[in-house]
Amino acid sequence: MNIYHEILLPNCMINKDHPRYESLKLREKVVDAYNRGILAESGMIAHGRGEAFDYLLGEETTSNAKKAVQAAAAALILAKYPVISVNGNTAALVPNEIVKLADDLNAKIEINLFHRTEKRVSIIKNILNDAGAKNILGTYNEKKAMIRGLNGPRASSSREGVYIADVVLVPLEDGDRAEALVKLDKLLITIDLNPLSRTAKTANITIVDNIVRAIPNLIQAVHELNNINDSYLHQIVRDFNNQENLEESIKKISDKHTGRVKT
Ligand code: ATP
Ligand code: MG
Repeated sequence: MNIYHEILLPNCMINKDHPRYESLKLREKVVDAYNRGILAESGMIAHGRGEAFDYLLGEETTSNAKKAVQAAAAALILAKYPVISVNGNTAALVPNEIVKLADDLNAKIEINLFHRTEKRVSIIKNILNDAGAKNILGTYNEKKAMIRGLNGPRASSSREGVYIADVVLVPLEDGDRAEALVKLDKLLITIDLNPLSRTAKTANITIVDNIVRAIPNLIQAVHELNNINDSYLHQIVRDFNNQENLEESIKKISDKHTGRVKT
């Protein structure tokens, strides 16, 4: 057995004893995803912004994130037509978990890329297929509908997916698209480590946590709430206040670094 317990990646070895092993492992996964054509360069930059906030939050799930996960799970279970929107970062970090969540919810998966190319869509489709997804939307050769208020490839959505969804889970979404989706009266759930981002502020429910922790937590919450009656689920969604939750997340960051409170 190797006493260093290192993971081997194309360019480096990270010792498991490193205090930030998990974070460094994710960083390497993202670089690897870029090299495999899953991510555009900007996907790595977006990851870096997320990583900075994760560092500030202590790289663990806060009680606020747990509360948001409960509300998100309740909203997704109540949805008539839930859709999970997948971008390069999501496909790189949690492909198996996304497919499991979609299966458990009977939700559609739609590929939506900020920097959309036919090649990248096809690579991501293959990754999701390998993870067990059957009917992936947002690919080419498909009827598209344009989202009002957006231009270019970002405006495009699948007619069988985001366009007709009542509840959309869009991790790591950009602010403009989030605003446009909310204007279409969709209940928008996002996962975003930056509680100050436009997306975080625009969504109805924002899970301020790393996607690698948030999706498994969502799977668990969906499992736990699945047989609970609808009126209780509605209550959970109604009781959730996104603005308050974001303010508490910001406070957690400052308290943590002035030594006042633990997560
Ligand atoms: P705005 O929402 O203000 O328009 P933006 O969406 O354009 O900002 P980007 O950097 O493109 O900003 O979006 C990436 C977002 O995803 C950032 O807010 C970042 O914190 C978040 N993010 C990146 N990696 C992760 C991750 N692994 N888990 C959760 N969130 C992440
Ligand atoms: Mg955003």
